Amino acid sequence: MPTIAWIGLGIMGLPMARNLLKAGYPVTGHTLEPEKLEQLAAAGGTPATSVPDAVRHADIVVTMLPADPDLEAVAYGDTGVLAHARPGALFIDMSTVTPRTSISLARQGQRQGIRVLDAPVSGGEAGAVEGTLSVMVGGEQEDFDAARPLFDVLGTTVVRCGAHGAGQTVKAANQLIVAVTIQACAEAVVFLEKSGVDLPAALDVLGGGLAGSAVLGRKRENFLRRSYPPGFRIDLHHKDMGIVTAAAREVGAAVPLGSLAASLVAAARAQGDGGLDHSALLRGVERLSGLTPKG
Ligand code: NAD
Repeated sequence: MPTIAWIGLGIMGLPMARNLLKAGYPVTGHTLEPEKLEQLAAAGGTPATSVPDAVRHADIVVTMLPADPDLEAVAYGDTGVLAHARPGALFIDMSTVTPRTSISLARQGQRQGIRVLDAPVSGGEAGAVEGTLSVMVGGEQEDFDAARPLFDVLGTTVVRCGAHGAGQTVKAANQLIVAVTIQACAEAVVFLEKSGVDLPAALDVLGGGLAGSAVLGRKRENFLRRSYPPGFRIDLHHKDMGIVTAAAREVGAAVPLGSLAASLVAAARAQGDGGLDHSALLRGVERLSGLTPKG
């Protein structure tokens, strides 16, 4: 089994690393919260107190970090992955970052004999726990083939989308679709409630028709209970809407609904909801509809 170094044991990273341990991979992990390192150790992993200690002997290095600056801090510099990973190691970044950042990382890696893949995921915390993520990969075919057994532990839909950065471009499109869909579902919830319709019954029948979606299914209980534990934080979706609107602008693609959704996500954050799950876009619709947000 290849030896894995896993950097970033947050909402997504810790359950993903646990799934690799369950599948028999030796995993050494590093992250900023000591309690997450203890949880990795409890699952059979080896905690490391620094990036160099984590990656030095690894065949495969995986990063699952919040955003571009975190990835750059972990990848580059005297204490970074590129300085300390073995030549020939495979560096798989599963964070959601800009396609440009992934392309730069691949170029820098190549100069130092490190093979790089961008492999962002969709499916949320539940997908990470269940090992049912969608994995969108950019990079060389042979590196994708080498990483495939690991991806198959983490996800059920694993696709190489093209060259370096292509995984991130597909993930940006994913985030556009998810934000617009959550906003539409939230608007439907407030409309249904204000109309006096039984909400659980309405969501049942909507879920079985063309309006049904993974978003409606997975966020249904959050909407009904007005409970928004993260999940996927609005702060992170704000970052992702910045990625998709900038990337679309670069290629001359119009994303009017995406731009509107980006503003609504930014407004939710400005109202103090950045730490809540993105289903809390419902709170914004409640405010716009003259209601005090419940929950
Ligand atoms: P998170 O904030 O829960 O976890 C991030 C982890 O990175 C933390 O444990 C933190 O300690 C660690 N970290 C940050 N800087 C570090 C550094 N310099 N050195 C070592 N560790 C460091 O975030 P998350 O929800 O797990 O998301 C991770 C990535 O996955 C993000 O890019 C996000 O957009 C993406 N994503 C998240 C979800 C989701 O539902 N949460 C779904 C799909 C994709």
